[in-house]
Amino acid sequence: MRTLSGRDLAAAIRAQAEAEAAAGPQPRLAVVVATADEASLWYVRSIAKAAAGVGIACDVVDLGPDASPDQIGETLSRLSADPNVHGLIMQTPLPAGASAQELAAAIDPRKDVDGANPLSLGRLAAGLPAFAPATAAAVMALLDHYEVELPGRRAVVVGRSTVVGKPLAHLLLDRHATVTVAHSRTRDLASVTSTADVLVAAAGRAGLIGAGHVAPGAVVIDVGTNPTDDGGLTGDVDFEAVSPVAGALTPVPGGVGPVTTALLLRHTARAANLP
Ligand code: NAP
Repeated sequence: MRTLSGRDLAAAIRAQAEAEAAAGPQPRLAVVVATADEASLWYVRSIAKAAAGVGIACDVVDLGPDASPDQIGETLSRLSADPNVHGLIMQTPLPAGASAQELAAAIDPRKDVDGANPLSLGRLAAGLPAFAPATAAAVMALLDHYEVELPGRRAVVVGRSTVVGKPLAHLLLDRHATVTVAHSRTRDLASVTSTADVLVAAAGRAGLIGAGHVAPGAVVIDVGTNPTDDGGLTGDVDFEAVSPVAGALTPVPGGVGPVTTALLLRHTARAANLP
């Protein structure tokens, strides 16, 4: 079984982002935050640090966990209109009552570096240029980096969120895979996932995918990041159980995660260089 680390690929993408950032005006990324969720705040700090490392300025606009949907929407509209801001992210979770889908519509699609605006998803589905959500793009980048063949292959995506499962299904379809999307109502998940040449787990359920879910030799990409009791992270795939069956498997941490952050930066550098 081959372990598909994302670390070298992430370093290569960060180097590209740095070169692209140096080629024009300094890119600026704004991250709007309205949560006290510690994991989410940690992630935002890690984006800011990674941005600084490649010459991208990053403003964290923290509205606090009691921000109203109107406040969040107005902030996104203001930053969308600000010519000094090139990339704009709305961090989740949001306060109760705030709809991520509704609010993300306020993000200018040209600055929508995490593909959150429904227009970006629509353009992606239509095969038009758009920023894909960085996590979905990271899965594709890993598959390409490790030269996983996609045309005509059976791909199963577990999860149908608008940030991972749905955009990823479109990206895989564009690459001529035969795509099935499974979710919490899917009956007999193992019978579906075990048809996959390429299996992507993006359910947010630790250990959901065991040996019986995976066809011998399949390529398995684990998007899940589930907190463990000891403060670490674990994926949706039971790594120990699946390793003897799969042909290749991404680790958690160190697989999709670092590539996602690197792609957010490269998207921001690209957004700053858009004509
Ligand atoms: P989400 O919005 O909660 O969506 C989870 C999806 O999984 C839903 O479509 C849900 O089905 C499905 N699901 C849940 N339990 C299932 C089960 N037992 N069997 C089959 N399907 C099931 O989560 P998300 O935002 O897409 O994120 C998914 C995971 O990826 C999380 O662990 C998240 O932390 C991780 N993530 C990682 C990165 C990264 O950079 N590595 C970035 C983003 C997210 P229903 O639609 O039927 O409810």
